[in-house]
Amino acid sequence: MNYHILTLFPDMVMDGLNTSIIGRAKEKGLLFIEAVNIRDFTQNKHNRVDDYPYGGGAGMVIQAQPVYDAYQHVEKKIGRKPRVLYMTPQGRQFTQSMAEELAREEDLVFLCGHYEGIDQRVLEEIVTDYVSIGDYVLTGGELPAMVMIDAISRLLEDVLHNEASAEFETFHDNLLEYPQYSRPEIWRDKQVPPVLLSGHHANIEKWRREQSIMLTVDHRPDLIEQAVLSKKERIFLEKYVEEKEKRLQQT
Ligand code: SAM
Repeated sequence: MNYHILTLFPDMVMDGLNTSIIGRAKEKGLLFIEAVNIRDFTQNKHNRVDDYPYGGGAGMVIQAQPVYDAYQHVEKKIGRKPRVLYMTPQGRQFTQSMAEELAREEDLVFLCGHYEGIDQRVLEEIVTDYVSIGDYVLTGGELPAMVMIDAISRLLEDVLHNEASAEFETFHDNLLEYPQYSRPEIWRDKQVPPVLLSGHHANIEKWRREQSIMLTVDHRPDLIEQAVLSKKERIFLEKYVEEKEKRLQQT
């Protein structure tokens, strides 16, 4: 996977992405990540890339020319029109299924805005996808690009050492992941659930699935409707919901 990040703050993104699992995957050549500094492409003699918004209002707007030229530099390098993701609070919300879909691409271009955003005309010219990481406004698109690159990269083969760990976790089958425990067996009088010490794999699997179902009902009831469940698990879910409603009525 090749990531090309168009930004005014290349150090910010590269410092973060050179760290930990993504940094190691990059060192091993599993990922190519470059930050292209939009400022390097400005034709302004004072090196400026932003100006006041037409029509008035607060803040500054990143101008079309340096963004377009930075993009063209990347397009030329790739040799074809890539997918260009504009990080914006106005976009479609980023999800795990979007990460899975984007992980199938060979090249992704991330366009990071700053200040009040980017001149609309260049967005219309180059952007293929408008993506938000949530309903809040950040100072720039750098953190959203890093969030997306992290989520996409860990789905790629060999990026995680233990490949299974990306497969059975939160959002798999539209369920939240079961709770995890590690040594010691007892901590502050709290015992690890005995089934996890039993060595009985089928029972452990059943317990984990049931925990996932209960957690999803309690924390993300919006997901449970779409959960992929066996017949027995569906019966367990119905019973759990029924008992929960009874408990709520009693309080
Ligand atoms: N004036 C813009 C608006 O109201 O839609 C917000 C601009 S914001 C202060 C500056 C930049 O941060 C945006 O151009 C975008 O690249 C990025 N950004 C802010 N919040 C974001 C979010 N939730 N998801 C993705 N990008 C975001």
